[in-house]
Amino acid sequence: SQQPRLDFFAEAREHPRRTALIDEHGRATSYERLAARADRLARGLRAAGLRRGDCVAAVIGNGPAYFELRLATWQTGLYFTPINHHLAEPEIGYTVENSEAALVVVDADLAPRCGPALDTTDVPPRRRFTVGAVPGWRDYEELFAGMPASPPEDRTAGEVMLYTSGTTGRPKGVRRPLTGGPPRLGRYHLDFMARLGIHPGTGTHLVLSPLHHAAPGTFATAALHFGHTVVLAGSRDPEPVLALVERHRVTTTFTVPTVLHRMLRLPAAVRARYDTSSLRSVVHAGAPCPVEVKRRAIEWLGPVVAEFYGATEGSATALTAAEWLSAPGSVGHPLPGAEVRILDEQGDPLPPGEIGAVYFRSGISGIEYFKDPAKTAAARHGGFITAGDVGYLDERGWLFLCDRRTDLILSGGVNIYPAEVEGVLLSHPEVVDAAVIGVPDEEWGQSVLAVVQPAPEAADGLADRLDAHCRAGLAGFKVPRRYRFDRELPRTDTGKLSRRSLRAPYWSA
Ligand code: ATP
Repeated sequence: SQQPRLDFFAEAREHPRRTALIDEHGRATSYERLAARADRLARGLRAAGLRRGDCVAAVIGNGPAYFELRLATWQTGLYFTPINHHLAEPEIGYTVENSEAALVVVDADLAPRCGPALDTTDVPPRRRFTVGAVPGWRDYEELFAGMPASPPEDRTAGEVMLYTSGTTGRPKGVRRPLTGGPPRLGRYHLDFMARLGIHPGTGTHLVLSPLHHAAPGTFATAALHFGHTVVLAGSRDPEPVLALVERHRVTTTFTVPTVLHRMLRLPAAVRARYDTSSLRSVVHAGAPCPVEVKRRAIEWLGPVVAEFYGATEGSATALTAAEWLSAPGSVGHPLPGAEVRILDEQGDPLPPGEIGAVYFRSGISGIEYFKDPAKTAAARHGGFITAGDVGYLDERGWLFLCDRRTDLILSGGVNIYPAEVEGVLLSHPEVVDAAVIGVPDEEWGQSVLAVVQPAPEAADGLADRLDAHCRAGLAGFKVPRRYRFDRELPRTDTGKLSRRSLRAPYWSA
């Protein structure tokens, strides 16, 4: 059979009329047009004076500019740093400055926040562009003006540099050294995607998450290199998403457990109105998926539900629905070339079944933390890094996560893993979302508090019903001692619970 090309630009020459992108307004862009724009932009970036190894930062929402910049930098030996547009002004300023960005692109509606942020950096006004005209800024289209739509001379591979979300300190830039070779999608990505049921050829990938995060950006870009069409969703509400799946015959998507849970809360009869039979792979990661949510997702969507475990630093494991059903609750076994170890507090490996810190070595060659050689050296020690998760390996070498180390509840000398308790709460039909935290307790040191977002139809006395439900499913010491009901829980757009912000008021006094 033919070797996959794994290069968007080669796909564009082969299938110029194929649709590359459908944006959230339903506007379509062909492979030919996107490739021409990315070629012209690559030349425009060179003409603007950018040299190999320079960084282009962007503070933009999900839209065509993300792909133009990603594909242009990918073939011009530049780093591309998409920055979370929800960050506050000083955080944007810090990230741009830290990245040493040589040129910055921002969305027009973000200019009021980004202008003052950029004034704290070294980026000169002539290197600041807006997507959409804004007085006092250069128009992003100027970068394309007069540039021929042909590949840049000496095409060379660029990379992304992504910033961690910074729970444990200042966000850090994570990147791989430039190879100096021609741009190409590595074998590793091909294997990773294959494990998740995503293959080169034809298909339609639905983007449900912000592209500045590692996974959503990786999946969407791989889709283009694979020859697929990318559809950008305007909303993550369950019914509009299902309508998009049906309308565009979506084959693959990446999402977070919260979105799956919200879909499963739709009555089955409503879900059944939408034809989801085109789906070949629904990948989730980024936050724990409670066993019951996952089981129901597989019952509904079938064997297409896939999962992986990783962080901005790289992916470590993956598994299919069938594999999960043989090891419910697992996040999979290591990817080709990757390795997982469980270490105790002294840094010694633990045997199967014993809980410790999860370390992994990704199959992608050595990452580095930008301008932080000490952290890079630490991570490179044996090549293993940790994202701060706690878990264990079973006898077969399958990984099970317990929780993040910083979120463990120590009550009466025993560890309680919030994710386990949240999973039980989320399996109750009157619960939309749940967070479990440890609060100060004179007798036990900490006690378990559940913060619950009740379903709109929930009746009075929910705390009593949840208590009975938890007692039926959990050992007594894990059962929440208290409940608090909130209208909404603090979830990031990567589906992670910010338990830290829930804990803060209880521990500040
Ligand atoms: P922060 O530490 O603020 O979350 P980060 O940059 O480390 O920032 P990401 O890289 O987006 O966060 O996510 C990595 C984390 O996501 C992992 O450490 C883990 O806690 C969680 N995670 C990823 N995949 C899974 C999974 N399949 N199941 C459970 N948790 C997961």
